[in-house]
Amino acid sequence: MKILVLNCGSSSIKYQFIDTDSRDALAKGMVERIGMSSAVLTHTPLGKEKIKIVGEILDHSIAIEYVIAVLLSKNHGVIKDKKEIDAVGHRVVHGGETFSGSVLITDHVMKALKENIELAPLHNPPNIKGIQAVLEHLPNTPQCGVFDTAFHVKMPAKAYLYGIPYELYKKYKIRRYGFHGTSHRFVSEQAAQLLGKPLEELKIITAHLGNGASIAAVNGGRSVDTSMGFTPLEGLLMGTRCGDMDPSVILYIMGKEGLTLSEANTLMNKHSGLIGLSGESSDMRELEQAVAEGSKKAKNAFDVFTYRIKKYVGSYIAAMGGVDALVFTGGIGENSTEVRKAVCEDMDFLGINLDQEKNLSREELLISSEDSKVKVMRIPTNEELVIALDTEEIVKEQLVAQSVE
Ligand code: ADP
Repeated sequence: MKILVLNCGSSSIKYQFIDTDSRDALAKGMVERIGMSSAVLTHTPLGKEKIKIVGEILDHSIAIEYVIAVLLSKNHGVIKDKKEIDAVGHRVVHGGETFSGSVLITDHVMKALKENIELAPLHNPPNIKGIQAVLEHLPNTPQCGVFDTAFHVKMPAKAYLYGIPYELYKKYKIRRYGFHGTSHRFVSEQAAQLLGKPLEELKIITAHLGNGASIAAVNGGRSVDTSMGFTPLEGLLMGTRCGDMDPSVILYIMGKEGLTLSEANTLMNKHSGLIGLSGESSDMRELEQAVAEGSKKAKNAFDVFTYRIKKYVGSYIAAMGGVDALVFTGGIGENSTEVRKAVCEDMDFLGINLDQEKNLSREELLISSEDSKVKVMRIPTNEELVIALDTEEIVKEQLVAQSVE
C-alpha cells in the first residue's frame, strides 16, 4: 500500500509518502510557516531532485492541497492519480486514556480527539485540522490516527498515578501519559529482532534522546513506565525543557519574578534544559563542541543530561527486576558517542559494558562488549514507518470486515 503519513503542527506539516511493501519513503517533505504569505514547502522525492516552493499558504487545508499537488507534479511527483494514495496516517500527540492503540478515524474518534484537546491544547488542534483538511481533499481515502501516548496507556497504576488527591485524577485525568510511544515501541521491537528473541521474553530500556527526550521501561513488549508525564515536560533534561524538578521551584520563581502562568510555562518549556543551563545551545552537537572548547556551563549541562539518563536506567532496572537490553535512539541517542559513553560509564556492576570501538562506529547497532550481560544498542527510530504500517493494518482489517458484511 502507499500511505501518506502526516505530522501536523500548528504552523507546519511534515509528511512522508511511504510504500509499505518496500518500506521506502517515496517522498518526504515539510510545509513550514503555515498562515504566512512566505510559507515554504520543501519536497524531496526518492531518486529525484529536491524542490522548494515559497508562497502564501494560509491554512492547513491549503497546505494539504499543496502536498497532494506536489506528489502529483509531473517533474517532482511520485504518483499520477490521487487514488494512488491508499490511506493517510496521522501522528496524533494525545490519545488520553481513550486510545491504547491506533484507530481508523471516524466521527466517534473525532469527537474523542476533541474531548482530549484540554490535555494537549497545543498539539491536538492542529492534528484535528490536518484530518479535516484531508477529508476535504481526499474524501474517500481512509485515515488513521497513531497516538504518541498509546503505547504507555496500559502502564500500571503505580507508575501512572501522581501523589495528589485521587479525586483530581478522576476529575481532570491528571496522570502520567508518556509520549514518544511510537518510537519506544518501534525500537523495542527492533531490539528483539536484533537479539533473535521474542519481545515477550525481554526486559528493555529504550532511551529516545532528541530535542525532546524520554526513556521507557518495556517489559515483555509493554511499556511499564516512562519518564515523560502528564505533559512532555517531565523526566529527562531536554533541549529547552527542564524535566524533573521539585514543583516548588516554579512556584518560588513565579513569586520572586512575578511571572504569570503562561510565562512560567514558557520558562520551563522553552528556556530551560540544555539551553537554560549552558546559555550556549539547546543542540547537543553545538553543546559538545562548546564542551570541547572548555565551556564549564556547557559541561554542566552535558553532565546533568547524561547523569539523569543514568539514574533513570538504574531505576528502571529496579522497576523491572533486571534488564536485557539498553537501546539508544533519536538524534542524540543514535549519533552522540559521548552521551552513550557517559551514560554507560561505571555501569559494569549492573552488567552494562560498552565496547568503546563499536560505540564509535557509525554502522554497528550492537555496541556492547561481547561479555556484556546487558546488550547495548543504537537503533535508528522510524516513527513514520510505524504510522504507515499501523495504517495499512487497520485499512486491511477494515476491507476484510466490509467484505464479510
Ligand atoms: P527531534 O526531537 O526534534 O526530532 P532529533 O531526534 O532530530 O530531534 O534530535 C536532534 C538532536 O540530535 C540535536 O540536539 C542534535 O544536536 C542531536 N544530534 C544529531 N546528530 C548528532 C551528533 N552527531 N552528535 C551529537 N548530537 C547529535
